[in-house]
Amino acid sequence: MTYDLCIIGGGILGLATGREWLRLHPGSRVALLEKELSLAHHQTGHNSGVIHAGIYYKPGSLKADLCRRGAEATKAFCAERGIPVRTPGKLVVATNAREVSRLEALAANAAQNGIAFEHLDAAALRAREPAVSGLAAIFVPASGIVDYRAVCRAMAEEISAAGGTIETGTRVEEIAEGDAGVTLRAGQRSWMAARLIVCAGLQSDRLARRAGLAITHQIIPFRGEYYRLRPEKSGIVSHLIYPVPDPELPFLGIHLTPMIDGELTVGPNAVLGLSREGYPRLAVSLPDMAEYLGFAGFWRVMRQHLRSGIGEMRRSLSKSLYLAECRKYCPGLTEADLLPQEAGIRAQAVMADGTLVHDFLFLSTARMLHVCNAPSPAATSAIPIAEMIVRRALEGATGQGAATK
Ligand SMILES: Cc1cc2nc3c(=O)[nH]c(=O)nc-3n(C[C@H](O)[C@H](O)[C@H](O)COP(=O)(O)OP(=O)(O)OC[C@H]3O[C@@H](n4cnc5c(N)ncnc54)[C@H](O)[C@@H]3O)c2cc1C
Repeated sequence: MTYDLCIIGGGILGLATGREWLRLHPGSRVALLEKELSLAHHQTGHNSGVIHAGIYYKPGSLKADLCRRGAEATKAFCAERGIPVRTPGKLVVATNAREVSRLEALAANAAQNGIAFEHLDAAALRAREPAVSGLAAIFVPASGIVDYRAVCRAMAEEISAAGGTIETGTRVEEIAEGDAGVTLRAGQRSWMAARLIVCAGLQSDRLARRAGLAITHQIIPFRGEYYRLRPEKSGIVSHLIYPVPDPELPFLGIHLTPMIDGELTVGPNAVLGLSREGYPRLAVSLPDMAEYLGFAGFWRVMRQHLRSGIGEMRRSLSKSLYLAECRKYCPGLTEADLLPQEAGIRAQAVMADGTLVHDFLFLSTARMLHVCNAPSPAATSAIPIAEMIVRRALEGATGQGAATK
């Protein structure tokens, strides 16, 4: 059978894209292929579960717009589908003078992005969250929490109900684009599609190369390690508690996150992963490591961020150093409060010159669109990102290198 659209990847972006395509083109033939036996198995199923409000992103940027619209769309989708969402709001807490001035810059950003927030001084912060201390904070009421696996299940149901096919346990190994369409092969099976959209997260660079794109970036895996608090402490805070981010490395910063299931997690940090998809602490993939060790961009990024990299690594190896980061704003936590929790692994695109790509990166050809970088808050923004992906896929190629900010 020839499909109108094949999608590779059953994370939130692949599923949101399939749903959007079928919403616009009811009755069209769509197949979504996922290599794991379950959906949302990688980044989407291992994230913090936060619906971000969008305070961090540069005013006027695509990322800021997608996040704000994505948060609204996610909440509306969940309400429609009966998926539990809570909106406890987020406190971004400054614990020293440098962070206070960064907090002011963040507040200015939030204002320009049109996101409601409130300034809190130390006393107001204490009154709102007695277990948290800091010099100042901003409170962002719109930040919420959800289980993104549940969101994915609901999206998959909509794809199936609209006649789309979802095949798990199907690892696409070959992609060949021709004049008549794109041919995919997984084991003995093959598919022909008029268009292909690839949302393959941690494998996105490999699939782009396999499809013949001359890419110059590589995906480097960064582990995000979490703990969860023992049940007696899971009520210690009622909001999301975040440190003030470093503008150079916005994805760093261990936060306290109430989860939708009632747990309270601490994390994530960001340490170099020794395997793209190995979640246990000691998981090592020699092919994955050999690939980045042979990539000039990896060494450049390591040199540029050596200090913060060593700091993250030390905190990864020492629970007491990790704890010290959280105790800066939540001094009542002890080592005994931190219980093991599964890590997540970020797919971070790095350019050959060592630039960490913080924006979404899409590459397209006449019949293919590859999502080459989809960093946080891509789970929050998945619904409007999918609208954009479908629009771009229909427009066809304007050549490679269509990076967006
Ligand atoms: C630790 C961590 C915390 C985060 N926290 C948040 C948060 O709180 N809020 C937020 O908005 N965002 C967060 N993010 C970001 C967000 O989770 C990701 O940006 C988003 O999930 C990316 O979705 P995706 O569909 O692109 O990728 P993925 O979820 O990784 O899906 C890619 C899929 O492609 C499949 N695949 C790969 N290769 C093949 C192949 N050859 N054949 C078939 N299938 C294939 C994979 O198995 C996988 O299922 C976080 C990310 C991490 C890692």
